[in-house]
Amino acid sequence: MVDVLVIGSGPAGYTAAIYAVRAGYKVKLVTGNQDGGQLTITSFIENYPGFSEKITGPQLMMQMRQQAENLGVEIEYDVIESVDFSNRPFICKGESSVVYESRSVIVATGANAKWLGLESENKYKNKGVSACATCDGFFFKNKVVAVIGGGNAAVEEAIYLTNFASKVFLIHRRDSLKAEKIMQTRLMENSKIEVIWNSRVAEILGDEKKVTGVLLENNGELRKIDLDGIFVAIGHAPATAIFSGKLDLDEAGYIVVSGTRTSVRGVFAAGDVCDPIYRQAIVSAGQGCKAAIDADKFLSIES
Ligand code: NDP
Repeated sequence: MVDVLVIGSGPAGYTAAIYAVRAGYKVKLVTGNQDGGQLTITSFIENYPGFSEKITGPQLMMQMRQQAENLGVEIEYDVIESVDFSNRPFICKGESSVVYESRSVIVATGANAKWLGLESENKYKNKGVSACATCDGFFFKNKVVAVIGGGNAAVEEAIYLTNFASKVFLIHRRDSLKAEKIMQTRLMENSKIEVIWNSRVAEILGDEKKVTGVLLENNGELRKIDLDGIFVAIGHAPATAIFSGKLDLDEAGYIVVSGTRTSVRGVFAAGDVCDPIYRQAIVSAGQGCKAAIDADKFLSIES
């Protein structure tokens, strides 16, 4: 039995655990499949304050884990497969068959970018293929890049990338965009952006070391475009399957929160699992801190 069970090991989870343990609570953190979360599959991180030298995603997450361990957080390499929030203490069951009992829970299971599913896409991840313009756009100064998708995220990323790139293609599989009208107007008015309609990415091309182009298919016709980077912006999926029916979720599956409070008293959420907009490590860390402070308030009233 612990005071705070943190589910998830990204910046939100580790920050929540660090704050909760420093508030004097017994804290356990269950990592999930990928200890460190989404940052463990990114390359360099230049926008997380506090590191004047370049740091990689895995290094940053290793630091967070070590910091949490040093402060006394118990880390479990397990995956929660079911939760019972109907009574307190809360019960969470792990794939390992371990049953975790806790007085409060902080959910920080994150979200995963959706990918096209091509082998070449996987091969060139971090070598020109990215799912985050805010994170990686800076590395494409005066280069040619493409954004895949037609929603708000794709349009926003395309516009954002014009701050760095010399040319940005927006490649969409239909003849119209899903993005809001005002975003579409901004897109069309930007002279650095060219929209390629009705085109599906057939292959991502590279020279083994980095991306060199993309092969597009339109009604059976193939077209090759030379470029340096590809940003896949076809949506994100929050990792909330085990919370369905247990916590209020919105129509896209994100946990509905008020501050960090979920629909169940004593259960809090932080990071990408409840944030479809910002999706940044620093924002998730900030939300993790807030969730721990809210859990502290809840626990001190309860006891
Ligand atoms: P969306 O689900 O809105 O859009 C996804 C886009 O990707 C669609 O155009 C879809 O095409 C396309 N797509 C999906 N799968 C594939 C595939 N396999 N191959 C090619 N294209 C594909 O996701 P977003 O990430 O854009 O947005 C998520 C939510 O966040 C939305 O509610 C959005 O409004 C919000 N958001 C808001 C922002 C803002 O307000 N500034 C910024 C960013 C996001 P198709 O239309 O053909 O299905």
